[in-house]
Amino acid sequence: MIDNFGREINYLRISVTDRCNLRCRYCMPAEGCVNLIPHSEILSFEEILRLTEAAASIGIGKIRLTGGEPLVRHSIVDLIRRMNQIDGINEIDITTNGVLLADMAEDLKEAGVRRVNISLDTFDADKYRMITRGGDINRVLKGIEAAERVGLTPIKINCVALKGFNDDEFDDFVNLTREKDLRVRFIELMPIGHNDLGGDYGFISNQELLARFPELEPCGPQKFSVADEYRLPGAAGTVGFISALSHHFCAECNKLRLTSDGKIKPCLHSNEEIDVKTVLRNGTDEDVRNLLIESVGHKVAHHMLNEGAGPIDRDMNKIGG
Ligand code: SAM
Ligand code: SF4
Repeated sequence: MIDNFGREINYLRISVTDRCNLRCRYCMPAEGCVNLIPHSEILSFEEILRLTEAAASIGIGKIRLTGGEPLVRHSIVDLIRRMNQIDGINEIDITTNGVLLADMAEDLKEAGVRRVNISLDTFDADKYRMITRGGDINRVLKGIEAAERVGLTPIKINCVALKGFNDDEFDDFVNLTREKDLRVRFIELMPIGHNDLGGDYGFISNQELLARFPELEPCGPQKFSVADEYRLPGAAGTVGFISALSHHFCAECNKLRLTSDGKIKPCLHSNEEIDVKTVLRNGTDEDVRNLLIESVGHKVAHHMLNEGAGPIDRDMNKIGG
């Protein structure tokens, strides 16, 4: 479906849960003060599948499952298997913290997942434990290995760039791409939801980061990519830069987002939400389809962060990135 600004909307990002087995400091509040959505308010698999069918009927072929942590949702592999059978759905990907991936990679591949994005901000076990409030980096490293082994590739590694935290490791991330076809992506810290970084770590712009690597060569225009892609000469993989604050990617935006409690977000960086859960629980298939079409009509030309909008009320774990 084409929106009011001539963009083809063919991608739906579904947050299947707001729960997570980590508590990254830039994403969620510490345990104890987490304001989780009650289970009855979370969309059931039947509701997610019905919405996916409606989305496929208006030309959405690509799905990304995210969270919270999507792999903690009970029976997620069954959901994916059923989603993969919907006519018109031709790609299902996952964004995960990788903690449960070593055990699940094979089943995910078999159920129909094409590839995974794995979040990793540091290679240092102590720093990882600190930024995730208790995570074990070895599980993530084993998860990456398993994803490679079963072919959930090419793997993207998402790294939130934080001054004072991981800026001494950027070389290591870039060097990962020399031998292996990994897609490392540096993400600028976004002004979304919770942020427990205190004054210790700060925003670092992609411009500043890119300037540290003069040997990186642009890969050329990449349609529908949210990252500016670069490559070291002769390298197998690529290095991408995702800038939330630039308007750069809005012209290429091809997606809608669904929150785990059944709200459509036409734009990540806006507080506007359209309630689809009520329609899923009380309306016909045609009503669901019409609401999706209406949601595409609500997509804005570009976000308003630079014009003073925000911050976004929802924590990132309730949107999914
Ligand atoms: N739990 C999964 C994971 O961590 O990959 C999926 C959900 S997570 C919300 C999706 C992505 O959002 C992760 O790559 C995470 O690093 C990123 N993220 C979370 N909070 C962020 C923030 N404030 N600024 C930039 N990226 C953020
Ligand atoms: Fe969990 Fe992902 Fe948020 Fe970290 S970034 S707390 S892993 S949802």
